[in-house]
Amino acid sequence: MTGFAEPSPTQTALLLLGRGSDSDSERGVDCPGDLPPASDPTLLERARVAKEKLGDRLFILGHHYQRDEVIQFADVTGDSFKLAQQAAARPEAEYIVFCGVHFMAESADILTTADQKVVLPDLAAGCSMADMATASQVDQCWADLEASGVADDVLPMTYMNSSAAIKAFVGRHDGVVCTSSNAKRALDWAYERKGKVLFLPDQHLGRNTVVREMGFDLDDCVLYNPFKPNGGLTERELRDAKIILWRGHCSVHGRFTLDCVEEMRRKDPEVNILVHPECKHEVVEAADYVGSTEYIIRALADAEPGSSWAVGTELNLVRRLANEHPDKNISFLDRTVCYCSTMNRIDLPHLVWALEELVEGRVPNVISVEPGEAAAARKALDRMLALP
Ligand code: SF4
Repeated sequence: MTGFAEPSPTQTALLLLGRGSDSDSERGVDCPGDLPPASDPTLLERARVAKEKLGDRLFILGHHYQRDEVIQFADVTGDSFKLAQQAAARPEAEYIVFCGVHFMAESADILTTADQKVVLPDLAAGCSMADMATASQVDQCWADLEASGVADDVLPMTYMNSSAAIKAFVGRHDGVVCTSSNAKRALDWAYERKGKVLFLPDQHLGRNTVVREMGFDLDDCVLYNPFKPNGGLTERELRDAKIILWRGHCSVHGRFTLDCVEEMRRKDPEVNILVHPECKHEVVEAADYVGSTEYIIRALADAEPGSSWAVGTELNLVRRLANEHPDKNISFLDRTVCYCSTMNRIDLPHLVWALEELVEGRVPNVISVEPGEAAAARKALDRMLALP
């Protein structure tokens, strides 16, 4: 096999891999305190020593999209849902260090005990998709649905990739959280209860699931734009729709285009195109296989030796999978670098800084959800956990 071909760097991607505040991020603030320089050759050893000193008091969670330099210190790796479950299963750990993004750390805080502290090594590690639905925008949307006379027939549902405030909104309105693995099951549950769903915040996961897996037409979906009066929709459109999709998307998966798919097929007619359901509908329609991060990992593990795969998901994960399966030709679907820039803010200096602060008895960057909000969000999460 030829080994993993690195996509070309773009200036934006390289900039985003550096430090500094990002005005577009969910929590656009720098890490407080003295960060060790990235060039410090002792960083790996410092992380190892701090982790050893903290022992069972510490549990480190690492999302699949994290850098290799960070993921090697994770006690468990997984997607956001698996990591939240793992946090909940470790009541003895005093500190949960979450190498992921803000909404994931919030979910971990909601599912862990009041005594446990969830730490996010860089508070600027937000999620651009979660940022696309704020609590006040969603309140306005619900008021629009009420004014249009449809709210009574709508069940709100949110993807895990949303803030605790949005999960709490959904919990208060008898709705449910979903992940990319159980979106269809959650939608089935929703349609047993109501005639319509308000799907937050990822339009692509919502559209791809109802059209590909539930037989809906594209015309059954409408897109609510929070920046337009009434979401840019007429009362009739709201009444006729089966699903009201929020106008949000993932800035990483949204980059893959039909051109990328066609180019890969031109280069290698035998290639299998494997993408995440956060990709645009036309990309998903053109792909051979579609599934969650855990599905992608399994599909590549089970693939025939010698088979070729072009994968449309975050670059750190695709590169890691290519390195883990050198007997298969695994490439990245885009021509250029495509990291989750906010996820990449958690680097080795931030991890070392957070761990050494804990060793010193200081708990930095605690993510704490207000108890009332946490209780409402937990209802929506528990309904997901109870799905058949
Ligand atoms: S990959 Fe997309 S959805 Fe996931 S954390 Fe990054 S921006 Fe958010």
